[in-house]
Amino acid sequence: MSELVVEGLRASVQGKVILDGVDLVVRSGEVHAIMGPNGSGKSTLSHVLAGRPGYAVLGGSATIDGVELLGLPAWKRAEAGLFLAMQYPTEVPGVAVKDMLTASRATDTDSDSIYARMEAEAERIGFSAKFLDRPLNVDLSGGEKKRNETLQLGVLKPKFAILDELDSGLDVDALRMVSRRVEEETKESGLGVIAITHYSRLFDELQPDVVHIFARGRIVETGGPKLADELEDTGYEKWAGTDKPEVVATADPFADPLA
Ligand code: ADP
Ligand code: MG
Repeated sequence: MSELVVEGLRASVQGKVILDGVDLVVRSGEVHAIMGPNGSGKSTLSHVLAGRPGYAVLGGSATIDGVELLGLPAWKRAEAGLFLAMQYPTEVPGVAVKDMLTASRATDTDSDSIYARMEAEAERIGFSAKFLDRPLNVDLSGGEKKRNETLQLGVLKPKFAILDELDSGLDVDALRMVSRRVEEETKESGLGVIAITHYSRLFDELQPDVVHIFARGRIVETGGPKLADELEDTGYEKWAGTDKPEVVATADPFADPLA
């Protein structure tokens, strides 16, 4: 049993506080949905947890089984068991999916068996194995990129996965296969999931244990799976609030001192 614990996480980007006290505990096998208005900081949360540069962490902690993630480079966070399926997967010309996955320490066995695993994963989500030889995400459709992310998840077998709008760009059939695959992983490998989405249809196959509403940089309400359906009817107005983002001093050495 593993535990991802986020406590009092605060972070800013370009001097603007985006995450303002995020508290969240996810255990192995659990699926936590995060739903909230555009611009509330959901992707920022996923980036700050995964270690994308450009964000200033102002306070709090994020641990997997007691290992502090904040301050580690992204690859060490991956090694600690964290995986991020990005809202906008990055295109990496010149690096084939199969080479990227073979190079990962999580697949540090003989390359034939890794390739067989990749092919098996591709098949499980209806993804052609020909994509394994193509450069990572280059010239893929939105839906193909999301399947590519899911394939990596299945091969790398992280302890925890953040899925940032995995459903965006997927047609209904692809959505069903991908969300079913993630659900299976929660059962087969005890994967813990943070699923950021706007649409409860992601949860036809993937069964959330908890639904969080994220607004103004923090979790403002937590409920059961029914909350996802309610939100589709009511929207987020009740939680949107009107408070202005806090501005913090930046340590920008090139800032104009007279400005
Ligand atoms: P969500 O995923 O909930 O739609 P985001 O986390 O992408 O929201 O963005 C939260 C806020 O942070 C938005 O106002 C966005 O414009 C701002 N933001 C995110 N990244 C940057 C950045 N690199 N520079 C400036 N502002 C940013
Ligand atoms: Mg987002």
